[in-house]
Amino acid sequence: MIVKPKVRGFICTTAHPEGCKALVKSEIDYVKSQNHAEGFKKVLVVGASMGYGLASRITAAYSFGAATLGVIFDKPANGARTASAGWYNTAAFEEFAHADGLYAKTVNGDAYSKEIKDKVIEIIKNDLGKVDLVVYSLAAPRRTMADSTVYSSVLKTVGEPYTNKTIDLKNNTVSDITVEPATEEEIQATIKVMGGEDWQDWITALKEADAIEENAVTVAYSYIGPEITHPMYADGSIGKAKDHLFETAKAITNADDGIKAYISVNKALVTQSSAAIPIVPLYISILYKVMKEQGVHEGCIEQMCRLFNAKLTKNSVETDEPCRIRMDDWEMEEKVQSAVDTLWSEITTENLDSHADLNGYHEDFYKLFGFGAEGVDYESDVDIDVKVDC
Ligand code: NAD
Repeated sequence: MIVKPKVRGFICTTAHPEGCKALVKSEIDYVKSQNHAEGFKKVLVVGASMGYGLASRITAAYSFGAATLGVIFDKPANGARTASAGWYNTAAFEEFAHADGLYAKTVNGDAYSKEIKDKVIEIIKNDLGKVDLVVYSLAAPRRTMADSTVYSSVLKTVGEPYTNKTIDLKNNTVSDITVEPATEEEIQATIKVMGGEDWQDWITALKEADAIEENAVTVAYSYIGPEITHPMYADGSIGKAKDHLFETAKAITNADDGIKAYISVNKALVTQSSAAIPIVPLYISILYKVMKEQGVHEGCIEQMCRLFNAKLTKNSVETDEPCRIRMDDWEMEEKVQSAVDTLWSEITTENLDSHADLNGYHEDFYKLFGFGAEGVDYESDVDIDVKVDC
């Protein structure tokens, strides 16, 4: 079948298997080309098929030769429907890893469920003994509890409505948007989904099963960003969930059994989850322009390669005062943020091209689904029915 992108709202409903494979290969090649610290050897990645989780998995495998076990929530192809991009990414990663003699297994299912935790623990016990790094990189819109209650996360402000510029990526127009405050119930639901409760459940389950090393490290990802995004993000409903994630990191570490938990504050990047946040995509496209011009732009793989080889290695961790790892260090530099501020204050629909890297934004968006990879013939038939051993 010839696969073309079909964009609906913030997502693309098709994915290209060969494109995903080429992009996974380029991330692997990037990691291979870098210097490697002493790293983790048996790595569990929860949320391993896209974005930061996939980049963490690739870095562990190709920087350290680590055995990786990934938890994903993806769909295989079904008739004329392509598989999800995460499915193709995972198939490609496993194919490359196995060809390179690396252990790589994947469990496909709801990471929030006990069933999937049990399945993962059984594989760890049988194949790896214990893990020494757990990466928790879920970005989910909802969480189903054991009693079937469903909590949905929202991307709203807390307290007051907030009005600022946003971009409509369908027609590249800039306009004002007002984001309404979340209700208390919505805030609590967002904390249930994106806070630290499930991360803690994973660590507790691994400890109870004796499937995690005594000196293991676990890391989850967060975002802070500049003031223009604060009402939407750091001080919004998602920010409340991230505060809970941070408190969970402290609680895991304070349990004093040797396991250390960290929050890594990562750079704003185009991923499936960030595309859905009002205001943020316009900020990201201005940020891309500034960081590319200043020669400090990074994507997920550059961020995760730098994280695990420089800031969170087997032997050392570099944190700020409240004990967070700052992978947003280059994004938050004064010279970057002051340039972003100027462009933000001036940007309109008419000057979008000179004030933002819209092409870069769109390119990265399409690449999430395997479109726009170099060397892939998108006019050729491809077999969409790709297998993942999970
Ligand atoms: P993403 O959408 O690219 O990836 C999320 C992953 O979670 C996917 O692999 C998806 O399949 C998986 N997932 C979702 N629900 C699941 C479930 N129920 N069970 C198993 N797997 C499930 O997201 P991302 O942007 O890489 O985000 C990962 C983390 O990084 C999040 O905590 C996010 O808040 C954080 N973060 C993102 C950015 C950004 O700009 N994208 C910046 C800083 C921090």
